[in-house]
Amino acid sequence: MPKRNNDLPPDIKKIAIQAGRRKNGVPKGLTHCRVCGDWKGRCFWNNPLDWHKGPTPITCRCDANLCHKCGEPIYEYRLGSNIYDEASQQVLHVAGMVGMMHACGKPRIALPYQIEADWDKKYAPVLAGFPVELVYVGVRPRKDRSRKPIIVRARYVFHPGSFLEASKSKRMHYRSRLASDFYVEVIFYKVPERWETLKFRGAELIAVASAASFEEAMTNSVAIALHPDEPAS
Ligand SMILES: [Zn+2]
Ligand SMILES: [Zn+2]
Repeated sequence: MPKRNNDLPPDIKKIAIQAGRRKNGVPKGLTHCRVCGDWKGRCFWNNPLDWHKGPTPITCRCDANLCHKCGEPIYEYRLGSNIYDEASQQVLHVAGMVGMMHACGKPRIALPYQIEADWDKKYAPVLAGFPVELVYVGVRPRKDRSRKPIIVRARYVFHPGSFLEASKSKRMHYRSRLASDFYVEVIFYKVPERWETLKFRGAELIAVASAASFEEAMTNSVAIALHPDEPAS
């Protein structure tokens, strides 16, 4: 005789309900934090073999530890906590070690990935090597009564329609998904090889960074962090 759903042991039934995901893949136990917009709440680990441990708490950026010297968040999230990464649909653990990356007053660098040659048949052969996105990280007061500092980012994503190739250079615009009059232009000079990034606010050029190596040029570029008026979330 086939078993009906009601015959499942109660703990398995509870897990089956709590392990459910919404249509967009986000676990049902999570909701958006009204202050920072991250997912928070409780959900199960990715691996079903860990489900017997019960749901794990998921923290948001509001829970980040603050540095006792400079008062800013040590890392984007609370050290040792678990967070939900929407892009990969995974629960991730924030290793306590990442706290060692914090140095008071130093810029928070997130180095970009480069567009890979096999990403797209049509675009990749010409765009390969350009950054996928440029992320400028800053610290701003939270949008609640506490006004505690929180880490925010302005992300500029490559815009293939703006790509231009000349005999001596290639260039492309990077745009924000937020309503913003800020944008970035990345230029690659062929001989000698050199990368340059130009950050604009409308027609006004507000920052230039340049170096022969990709890594150095991008590090210099994102090290300028956020302009006070730059939209970030
Ligand atoms: Zn939050
Ligand atoms: Zn500090």
